[in-house]
Amino acid sequence: MRPADDLRGLRLLNPGPVTLSDRVRAALAGPDLCHRQPEFADLMARARAGLAAVYGAPGYEAVILGGSGTAAVEAMLGTLVPPEGRALVVANGVYGERIATILESQGRAHRTVRSEWVEPMDLDAVARALEEEPFTRVVAVHHETTTGRLNDLSALAGLCRSAGAPLLVDAVSSFGAERLDLEGWGVEACAGTANKCLHGAPGVAFVVARSTALERPSAAPSFYLDLARHRAEQARGSVLVTPPVPAVAALAEALDELAEEGGWEVRRSAYRERSGILREGLARLGFRPLLPDGASGSSLTAFELPAGVPFDGLYGALRSRGYVIYPGQRGLAGRIFRLAVMGALDRTDLEGAVAAFEEAVAASRAEAS
Ligand SMILES: *Cc1c(COP(=O)(O)O)cnc(C)c1O
Repeated sequence: MRPADDLRGLRLLNPGPVTLSDRVRAALAGPDLCHRQPEFADLMARARAGLAAVYGAPGYEAVILGGSGTAAVEAMLGTLVPPEGRALVVANGVYGERIATILESQGRAHRTVRSEWVEPMDLDAVARALEEEPFTRVVAVHHETTTGRLNDLSALAGLCRSAGAPLLVDAVSSFGAERLDLEGWGVEACAGTANKCLHGAPGVAFVVARSTALERPSAAPSFYLDLARHRAEQARGSVLVTPPVPAVAALAEALDELAEEGGWEVRRSAYRERSGILREGLARLGFRPLLPDGASGSSLTAFELPAGVPFDGLYGALRSRGYVIYPGQRGLAGRIFRLAVMGALDRTDLEGAVAAFEEAVAASRAEAS
């Protein structure tokens, strides 16, 4: 075991929670605040405005919730999918499947168009489904973290527009670092979290939605996850329930940091550069990416585990060199590992990660011979 102090120097290459910048960490350790005092109302207002400003679409606003990204997805579905009619879910990974599971638990009628997890969304099947019957909402994942694929929402949006079905998006691992054309794609709402591409701390999540959608009578089968209730309070400078105060402070700071850096496009460029260092470095060592060139988003690359190399061994080798890597899920568990580049990382961290892989490979070759 490394001494506990060394945990401070670990670099997280998992897709959130991320390595925090010093200023976000300082915000997390800020003053104790009552959630009903004006200073906290200021923090909430800053965070809500910062979230809405990331993509700057007029007519959209942010609602903040205590909880993880899944809480935001669940609140979005429960509040905005009408109880009558049917939703169409497009799934090509764990998070698309989770949307269907949540709708099931909410008793909402839905149909799921699935494709293999290593494949793109099946847009032909979506088009056929939309011709066959009316759907009240289409729900999809933007960046499918299962494989790192960036789904083509622009193409999906075209189909939704022709069918007159508003789009709800799980943008939990893309919000802040990928193009998200809320208005142009007819997105009614998208769900996100503080602790992925926004570089905040875990504990707070959010939905950015059309104000008009939040003003409709809510269909939520939940009190706690009713976006309309949260929004009514937040719009008047209040909160529905006790929020995770330090996580909100960290989010507000992280959003300021993002804006000062130049916004989502600058962050995407930084991620692309970081991912490029990993992809090139690992390719040199003989690792193969799971997805073809150009299919992945900026923030994460899935690599095939080389034959005879179990994930745990690779994890341990990297961990002892200061890096946390991430396994595949379910059917991909024994087959891939994933490297995310979100968080306060610099070039040296990524080059160091490649060097750590190089050492790990050399060590395992030496052991095998
Ligand atoms: C991480 C993630 C989630 C779930 O987030 P939690 O914070 O673990 O609840 C949902 N969707 C996508 C695409 C994700 O990457």
